[in-house]
Amino acid sequence: MPTKEQIEQIIRELQKVLHVQDWVIQLYLVSQYEMKDIMDTDHYDHAGCCKRFPDRKEAHISLNIDHTRIDECWYLTVIHEMLHIHTSALDDIVMNITDEEDYGRKHFFYENETLNCSMEKIIAGIYPISNFDHILNESAYTTLKAAGETLSELVESISGATPTTRGE
Ligand SMILES: [Zn+2]
Repeated sequence: MPTKEQIEQIIRELQKVLHVQDWVIQLYLVSQYEMKDIMDTDHYDHAGCCKRFPDRKEAHISLNIDHTRIDECWYLTVIHEMLHIHTSALDDIVMNITDEEDYGRKHFFYENETLNCSMEKIIAGIYPISNFDHILNESAYTTLKAAGETLSELVESISGATPTTRGE
């Protein structure tokens, strides 16, 4: 799993991709126990969660660093949690529904989760993690970039050189 700073940079770039660039997104890397408290649930297996404060366009994304699959799923989880920002207004409406059996609300949250799970995979497919090589493999990227510059200087010096006269 990348460092907190790397994920923060990726979130800033993804904000433009996912059209939530006007939101302030805070990232927290939390333990399994902290995640349980944040989610206020008995389940320990959440990889991430996103608390939204729509009136001040602020979101707090937490990633569970103890999750057994976090190394493989952190990118999908980040996308998933960022997608929740788009339904913040709907969440408020649904929370205010008074439903005797709470059916409407549960149904909405279930369908919203299912939709987000599909969307995270679609977006990760269209916008794969390789878009962030410059953040995740910074040293390799710098080396390659320097090599590229040396190569283009070389090409320039060769093409700018006076052609040698060939014998007829
Ligand atoms: Zn979700």
